[in-house]
Amino acid sequence: MKSPVPDYLTEILDACGGDAGALAGYIPELASADPDRLAVCLSTIDGKLYRAGDSGTEFSIQSISKPFVYALALADHGLDDVLERIGVEPSGEAFNELSLERDSRRPRNPMINAGALTAHALVGDPGDDVDTRVERVRRLMSDFAGRELHVDRRIYESEMSQAYRNLAIANMLRSYGVIGQDPRDVVRGYTQQCAISVTSSDLATMAATLATGGVQPTTGKQVVPEKVARQVLSVMMTCGMYDAAGDWMTTVGFPAKSGVSGGILGALPGQLGMAVFSPRLDSHGNSTRGVRICTRMSADMGLHIMQAPEPARSTVRRDRTLRGPDGSLARVCSLQGSMQFSSVERVVRTVTDGLPIALFVLDLRRVSSVNDVARRMLAEIVRRLQLDGAEVALLDPDHVLPLSEQAVVRLPERWSSLAPLEGYERV
Ligand code: GLN
Repeated sequence: MKSPVPDYLTEILDACGGDAGALAGYIPELASADPDRLAVCLSTIDGKLYRAGDSGTEFSIQSISKPFVYALALADHGLDDVLERIGVEPSGEAFNELSLERDSRRPRNPMINAGALTAHALVGDPGDDVDTRVERVRRLMSDFAGRELHVDRRIYESEMSQAYRNLAIANMLRSYGVIGQDPRDVVRGYTQQCAISVTSSDLATMAATLATGGVQPTTGKQVVPEKVARQVLSVMMTCGMYDAAGDWMTTVGFPAKSGVSGGILGALPGQLGMAVFSPRLDSHGNSTRGVRICTRMSADMGLHIMQAPEPARSTVRRDRTLRGPDGSLARVCSLQGSMQFSSVERVVRTVTDGLPIALFVLDLRRVSSVNDVARRMLAEIVRRLQLDGAEVALLDPDHVLPLSEQAVVRLPERWSSLAPLEGYERV
């Protein structure tokens, strides 16, 4: 059977055509790009890549480099140090605004140029030269993409020939002591970072790496720590689309980052990474068709991050109370799906409803994952039941609930849930 996914992506490209918007004019090489190029790619978090349109076309990454360099600065210096230099508040301003927070004198966030130049300057040691910083950035982005990326020298030279605004921003940052290096070197390094050449397939894979919490789906390498990936996605959510961030949040609703060459990268945590490419831009500097495609895909595929997930009650599959021949009560609680706070809270309620239980059987055979708070809560339920004198038996052949130090009975996998309860009757 042929997969329906590529057909769907092709259909999206056909439906979201049109030629509204203009090429980025302030970088001469971008002004001569082919405006009709169009691509969409989707990467699952286990590395399956779906593509449609011009997915092999290379273009400069531009501002989509910003989240990755922010990630590198965070990995190098830790969150507190980076927060001292760069804020996390949406600016509501254009990407190249000359602005700083009034009191702290920090750039408002790392997705606008002021913050991105600062993040670039933070990479590695303050004394590193331009080439060393750029090489570290190129290396990290290659790790995200799972292939060697390179700087497009023509794009770099072209942007440098007109980099007056970024030089002004870097000078402003230097004058307030936000950066310590020569502003020209910071702009040279940052402009090379923006000139790294990628395809939309690369961007989808890089997005999937953020969506998995920093693990590259094809190489399996932990490229940045999970906490760094979360921080980056959070800032993308609130600041990634510049002064259109609020619009984007309410209509599309997943973390994203755009660039003036026409790319948009989007990541839905735990689910997928995606990228679109179409060079004509709207007044915010975001790809016109790219925004349209993302809006449509979000609606079709239910990708809005604020879409309420499955209700917690569906995670308690069955909850039965049985009375033994001696009159004592047994409780058999079968769970399913992924356990988090709200699902385990349902279990807490079933065992704290007043009836003293002599035997508690917790059936976890259909549980797919247990997060940290759910694991701690389940362990606490077991401990408290035991303190109350109950016997606890676990049906957990895959060890989704590691309870090493607790004396729980682990029932065999093939156990039919009622066999040891011979003689018991449903209450
Ligand atoms: N290199 C570009 C600049 O600094 C990146 C801007 C963007 O993609 N929005 O102006």
